[in-house]
Amino acid sequence: MTVLNRVAVVTGAGKGIGAETAKQFAQNGAKVVVCDLTREFTEQTVREIREAGGEAIGVGADVQKGDQVEALFAAAIEEFGRVDILVNNAGIIRDNLVYKMTEEDFDAVLGVHLKGTFLCSQAAQKWMVPQKYGRIINFSSTSALGNRGQVNYAAAKAGIQGMTKTLAIELGRYGITCNAVAPGFIETDMTKATAARMGLAYEELKAAAAKETAVLRVGVPADVANAVLFFAADESSFITGQVLYVRGGV
Ligand code: NAP
Repeated sequence: MTVLNRVAVVTGAGKGIGAETAKQFAQNGAKVVVCDLTREFTEQTVREIREAGGEAIGVGADVQKGDQVEALFAAAIEEFGRVDILVNNAGIIRDNLVYKMTEEDFDAVLGVHLKGTFLCSQAAQKWMVPQKYGRIINFSSTSALGNRGQVNYAAAKAGIQGMTKTLAIELGRYGITCNAVAPGFIETDMTKATAARMGLAYEELKAAAAKETAVLRVGVPADVANAVLFFAADESSFITGQVLYVRGGV
């Protein structure tokens, strides 16, 4: 899997799956633009990459704000001269049953996931089309298939699958692929927040989720990063418009 000397922008890379993905890119020789809401949130990931001998910069940007997204890509170009890979990983949850969900919580989740993925992809393709090379990897979820308490998140993650296939169709002729990973239960702060909302101990929720898989364990960020790197590789040029479920089962 080759990403050597490629420039990768990873959103929401201050922690969780995004941080692990950024580190795996760097380990494989890519130059990484670590994006999170603020530059301060990116510092730990950037430090870990540099300490391991990799190249990275940190940029603060809210992915649902067009001007901040433009500035993110401008910073990437200024530092590294090109953008080859975009990973639309940034995400939030605002779970509630439909009768209790507020308009604000619906808009917040759609804003970060769906609009954020659109704005970053739109900004990235401006640089990718002229260079006739690009890899866009979006984040869907098993929740795209429906999940109690997540009418906002499920709608966003299902929307991302449609967006992924459309970007694949529109951008394929320019050497740009667009694919999505759709993780199941992964050990991060996001699933810790879910346990807290449900009033469950984290270990209890993990054990219940593990039982639902074929491999009898929950996922860790490296499981998802591995799938992202596969889509991001030079060799994956004939794979586009796909959604890969990373869920330890069918
Ligand atoms: P996480 O640990 O909560 O990390 C998400 C990151 O995104 C955080 O660093 C967060 O910053 C950042 N972020 C939030 N809003 C942002 C914005 N507007 N602009 C830029 N960055 C923003 O979550 P995770 O579990 O690693 O999730 C990563 C992706 O995987 C998400 O798209 C999520 O929906 C998806 N996913 C996760 C699971 C799972 O089980 N964990 C399953 C399926 C899909 P703050 O900390 O400052 O908010």
